[in-house]
Amino acid sequence: MRDPFKIDHPTCISFSGGRTSAYMLWRVLQANGGLPPTTVVCFANTGKEVEPTLRFVRECAERWKVPIHWLEYRTTEVGFAEVDFATANRQGEPFEALIRHRQYLPNPVARACTTSLKIRPMHKFLRGLGWTEWDQFIGIRADEQRRVAKIRARGHSTESASEIMCMPLAEAGITVHDVIDFWQSQPFDLRLLSVNGRTLEGNCDLCFLKPQRQRLALIKARPEAAEWWIRMESLNLASKPSGARFRADGPTYAELARFAADQGDLFDPAEESISCYCGD
Ligand code: SF4
Repeated sequence: MRDPFKIDHPTCISFSGGRTSAYMLWRVLQANGGLPPTTVVCFANTGKEVEPTLRFVRECAERWKVPIHWLEYRTTEVGFAEVDFATANRQGEPFEALIRHRQYLPNPVARACTTSLKIRPMHKFLRGLGWTEWDQFIGIRADEQRRVAKIRARGHSTESASEIMCMPLAEAGITVHDVIDFWQSQPFDLRLLSVNGRTLEGNCDLCFLKPQRQRLALIKARPEAAEWWIRMESLNLASKPSGARFRADGPTYAELARFAADQGDLFDPAEESISCYCGD
């Protein structure tokens, strides 16, 4: 049987900065005796990743001796900038630049942030290397069946038919338990709380796709995290001059911050997060 981690033509490994995609990278390194020459690893920083995520990306690169390209969205013609741990933005600058440039807030119906902040900068970076077609390894596990089925049905990226989506973890039957077991045996780890294998502060800290209860708990733990999201919702944007919202079907971030300060808890405990490409 073919090893899904074995690479023999141009491949981009999309590293989200989470445990799952880091595990995928480790498996690629094991299967190929290091990083194949036709492979690049990319991490797209939105500016809203928490510091432990940035440290984890750097630590994976250093410990596993693998170059990881840190990319950020820009409004320039090139469309991205390559940064590193020291120069990466940490105050949401790339994300804010996108909102101001597009003059609207992403939301569950129009989730342009993943595409604009992550997928397109990676595509532009790869095309800048002269690549015209490549495989994109994404960290989707076998237990994420809905996402697996959706991506398999499409086959290629939403953005470009030149990019073939590959899910080696799903192909190899890797579940969240395998990922947890792996990290328990490693000398380092992502220093973020994980509940049932889900990293609550992974990806953008208060991503609007996270359940309200989760965002509320995160704001209670770190009230200052809400400030950027509240400021974005207070912008006067062409799409909604009176003040836009990330979620029309729930409280604003200012309301969430007030509930958190009042120790309020008004939310549906059964609400699930909406999955997106950003991944774990
Ligand atoms: S984590 Fe959420 S807010 Fe951040 S880019 Fe992905 S979908 Fe958008």
